[in-house]
Amino acid sequence: MITSAPFMSCREIRNFAEAVVDSQKFAADEDCIAGRLALSQLPRLADVLMNREGWLDCTLAGQRETDATGTKLWLRLRVSGKLGLCCQRCMEEVGFDCAIDSRLLLMPPGEEWPEEELESDAYDAIPASREMSVLALVEEEVLLALPAVPRHAECRSPAGAGEAEEEGRPSPFAALAGLKKH
Ligand SMILES: [Zn+2]
Repeated sequence: MITSAPFMSCREIRNFAEAVVDSQKFAADEDCIAGRLALSQLPRLADVLMNREGWLDCTLAGQRETDATGTKLWLRLRVSGKLGLCCQRCMEEVGFDCAIDSRLLLMPPGEEWPEEELESDAYDAIPASREMSVLALVEEEVLLALPAVPRHAECRSPAGAGEAEEEGRPSPFAALAGLKKH
């Protein structure tokens, strides 16, 4: 059973961006670290953020689960923070509440990937690594959590007003314009 208990005894990491863990040991020890990443420290997010001020609060907890089939090692990653994305309708900034709570099954090298993983929405499998960059892991999960087409529920700017009819069909030009802003 996965509970939130491990988060109680988290170690605060001051320099979270440089945290590297031996993922299997971290999970087996049921270690837990917490810290803050500045958005400006996340290079792969630079293209989608209109505003790189702010931060993400992150908690990474290791969890060991033993049942009849053996021991499974998990990472549970929680990330929260506010991101300023580019609305693909009006090109203004649209706030996105990032609230990630991911269960990640560590796959030791050479182990067969579980078939159920492909169908399961409850968790993802990731390769275990002795030098897992926590920042890279957070960044990957945040990218997966982003909306495919960010936009306001209702755009305020006049530019977006005329396109209200085209709900669900973002123009390719809008996407291009979003990219050119950086
Ligand atoms: Zn908008």
